[in-house]
Amino acid sequence: MSGSISIKKIKINLIPVGQVKKINFDFLIEFLADSFRANIQVGNNFPLPGEAFNFQRKQYLSSYILRTAKSYLNLKEDEKALLIADVDLYAEGLNFVFGEAEINGSIAIISLVRLRESFYGRPEKKEIFESRVKKEAVHELGHVFGLKHCSSSQCVMYFSNSLADTDRKSWEFCLRCRGLLMTR
Ligand SMILES: [Zn+2]
Ligand SMILES: [Zn+2]
Repeated sequence: MSGSISIKKIKINLIPVGQVKKINFDFLIEFLADSFRANIQVGNNFPLPGEAFNFQRKQYLSSYILRTAKSYLNLKEDEKALLIADVDLYAEGLNFVFGEAEINGSIAIISLVRLRESFYGRPEKKEIFESRVKKEAVHELGHVFGLKHCSSSQCVMYFSNSLADTDRKSWEFCLRCRGLLMTR
């Protein structure tokens, strides 16, 4: 590569957690590389920690997975990780979460389960699924890069309380969030 003056120093590792149904992550790799001007790599699977499973809820505690993965991955200073899980996640006090992140930290997780139309008994649509994955991935990584929730309902940093919120917002940062991201 030549002719480029941008120095790509941040590395984002995409880490499948447990068994992730065969998905080609190419659409996400290019997209995240553009959104964060980062090098994206797909890492080895991280095994789902059994202790994170709540038998009553039949869901995994996302913070537990984040914590164990963080100590296991031993990320370098210029490295971030996005865990991609294909199990349903929860946080205390919430029915479910689409994802969770360490704000201004190094690691985040998203779940693919509730981003599929089939979860709601509707026929699967690849485009819709991929656009939701992009939004959730950028949102959680935005937190990792220090961004908080945004009040603009179109901004990717808007808090998604439901799938409708996710579908309504774009996968881009608003000007304000973009500005905050650039100053980091
Ligand atoms: Zn958030
Ligand atoms: Zn914003």
